[in-house]
Formats: sequence, C-alpha cells, structure tokens
Amino acid sequence: MDILKERGNQVVTKGLDEHELACDKASLAGSVSQRACVFCGSRVVLYPIADALHLIHGPIGCAAYTWDIRGSLSSGPQIHRLSFSTDLQEKQVVFGGEKTLKSALIELIDQYQPKAAFVYSTCIVGLIGDDVEAVCRNVSKEKGIDIIPVQAPGFAGSKKDGYKVACDALMKLIGTMGTNETIPESINIIGDFNLAGELYLLVDYYKKMGVKIVATITGDGRVDDIRQAHKAALNIVQCSGSMSNLARQMEAKYHIPFLRVSYFGIEDMSEALYEVARYFNSKSMMDKAIALVRQEVGDLIPKLAFYKNALTGKKAAIYVGGAFKAISLIKALRMIGVQTVVVGSQTGNKDDYKIMQDISDEGTILVDDTNPLELTQFVKAKKADILIGGVKERPIAYKLGIGFCDHNHERKLALAGYEGMLNFAREVYATAMSPVFQFTKTDH
Ligand code: SF4
Repeated sequence: MDILKERGNQVVTKGLDEHELACDKASLAGSVSQRACVFCGSRVVLYPIADALHLIHGPIGCAAYTWDIRGSLSSGPQIHRLSFSTDLQEKQVVFGGEKTLKSALIELIDQYQPKAAFVYSTCIVGLIGDDVEAVCRNVSKEKGIDIIPVQAPGFAGSKKDGYKVACDALMKLIGTMGTNETIPESINIIGDFNLAGELYLLVDYYKKMGVKIVATITGDGRVDDIRQAHKAALNIVQCSGSMSNLARQMEAKYHIPFLRVSYFGIEDMSEALYEVARYFNSKSMMDKAIALVRQEVGDLIPKLAFYKNALTGKKAAIYVGGAFKAISLIKALRMIGVQTVVVGSQTGNKDDYKIMQDISDEGTILVDDTNPLELTQFVKAKKADILIGGVKERPIAYKLGIGFCDHNHERKLALAGYEGMLNFAREVYATAMSPVFQFTKTDH
C-alpha cells in the first residue's frame, strides 16, 4: 500500500508485520492528520461545564465549533450552549486584544452570572502575545469569580496537548471548596461528556449500586461540584486519552486512586460496575451490581439476536479519538457478528495499542494517527462494509459508498451503557443494510 515512508512504523498488519505500532509522535508534516488542534482538545474537555462561561479569545473562525456540533447535555444551566468569542479583527491583531477581552468578560459576566469563566486563547493570541493571564486576574478581582485562562493556541501541538491544558485548568478549580474529608464509597465520574445524555444512564447505574457521586467531570458538570471533587474516594476515568492526566494529578495531590473503564459494549460496561464494587470491597455493592447486570443483559441479549443474525459476516473499520474506546468497539462489534478489519486512533498509547493488537483478528490493520488517503486505502483493501468514526471520517465512508456510524462527539444517540449497546446495534444495522448502497458505485 501507498504509505508515507516515515509513517511505516505507525501501521501494523497483525500476523504479517513484526514491528511494534509506534505512537505518541507528532503528526508528520504533509500527512494531513485527522487530529484536531490544541484549542479543540481543551474545548472538548471543558465545554460541558454548564454553569461556566466559555469565552474564545481569537478570531470568530475558532468559535465555529459550537454546542450544535457537540451536544453535551445539561440537566440544569445551559450557559455552555452559548458560543462567545471576542471576534478579533485586524485592529486588535495589530494593537492588541486585551481591552476587547476585558470588556467582553465584564459584559458577559454581568449578563449571565456564571459560576466561573474559562478564557481560551487561540492561534492569533498566541502570536500577538496578549497578557490574557493579567486580564483574567484583574476581572476576576473585580467580579469576584474565578476566571481561568486556557492557553490553547492551535499551532502549539495537537488535540492531546489541549487535553493536558484543560486538565491543568480543572486542577485550578478542584480543592477550592469544602473540607478535605473523604466521602466514603464515593466516586468522581471523569471523562464522560454526557453526549446524548449518556451520563444520566451511568449515574443511575452507580446510584443503584449505592455509590455516591461527588462530581461528573465534565459531562453535566457544575463548577461547585468540581471544586469539591477532591473529596471523592475514587476516580473512575473513561476517555482515558483525554482525562488520565487529570486523574494522575489528583492522585499525586489528593491521593485519590483511579480506575480506567469503558462504558461501551456489554462486557466493558459490566466490568466498569464490578470494578467499583471490587475496589470498595463491598458485598452489598457487588450484589446490587450483579443484579443490575443480570437484569440489563437479560433484557438486551434477545433484542440483539436479530441484529447479530442480520450482520454476521459484515466487516468494520474503526477510527476514533482514543484507543481505549476502539478496544471496546472491537468487542461490541463481535457481539453483533461484525468483524473488525481496520482499527486505529488519533491519540492511542503503547499499552492500549498492545491490548488492541492482542484482541484483534489475524490480518487486521492497526494504525496510529492516520490520514484520509491511508484510511481510504485500508478500508478498500480490507473490503470493510462500514466505517465507524467521527465527523472527519464521515465523508470518507460516503465517498467510498459504504455505511457510516458516528461514534464521536457529534452524535445525537446514546451509545454508552446497556441501552447504548442496543442503539449501537440498531445504528450499525441501519447503515450496513441500507438499500441506498446498492446504488453506490464501489470498486472494492
Ligand atoms: S488551529 Fe488555531 S485558528 Fe484554527 S481553530 Fe485551532 S486555534 Fe483556531
């Protein structure tokens, strides 16, 4: 296949290639990576905090990525749905944008009374060098709320660096409210962003087991809960690519251990519940978890049978943000009879890729930080029937005339938990079996 020479070690065919899958590298210039910018990474993590003000200090283009595209739901305040920008123009680029930032902050705080504010500096601000920290400090004193600068110029790295910047911003809030007393048998749910209301399902499962939830970070997030997150006895981390850093910082500073989990697919969802009961060494919690899993899986398996019958023999390609999610997806697809033939992620690490390789079938192509041309070739070579990815992968699938399942931040359907597994099966079925594909021209 036609792969850029320097990217050769970031692609492995299981059973054919001997080398390890290389990862954690900067994207190759000219490769047109599917990764997004630093600002995007910071915004993915922080935006779901619903009672905070989110102000983008930069040209209006950076603010195009609004709530409409990434619908993290809130059960209460909705300030996060409003997209604010200082809309820097030529004048501010030449003479500086600090005055514009200050007046925008004051106006927005007066109008919306947020619990805190995040100010995102994007590329232009990184170049012109506005003293965003000083403006935030001064307005914070004047208005009496925390205003946290998020230095996220897109050119400074990739989405992964944005996750780190966002975790640092969260650490400025955590520990600023309440005592240092740990709440027994309590957790923070970290790394679920409440897309299509998924978090509501997870919170419900844990509550049924008798687990107390201190903060959800950041799906359906609230500033005051995050301030008290240091009181939790355990951190449960999903989307480990973005939030493991926060869990590690909290472990170092507040001695809160963490568990990495995934809520996608029956196996991983159930394990996410059992692991918490095991950690707290609670028989009553474990009994409740077993009863819950028995009930949910008992309801689900007969419903999945139809989809498994119809889909058996279909092949899927997966390309998502984090490798941990890709691992769950391989298992979830297997459960409905679909074989994964291509799998990759934007930001996977060595450990996740090792697991991914172990559970993949012989001949599966594994890839780190791919580009559209590579991905197209892989999908064609392996004759995949559907591509599972995000907004940037969708056009690839449609151009190839194959099915597409959105498993990224733009989706409007809950895919986590047991309910989510059924939605996922329906979604894969609907796209893979769509009659429209008999009219598309495919050369593979
Ligand atoms: S790359 Fe720079 S200009 Fe583009 S969205 Fe990201 S921060 Fe804004």
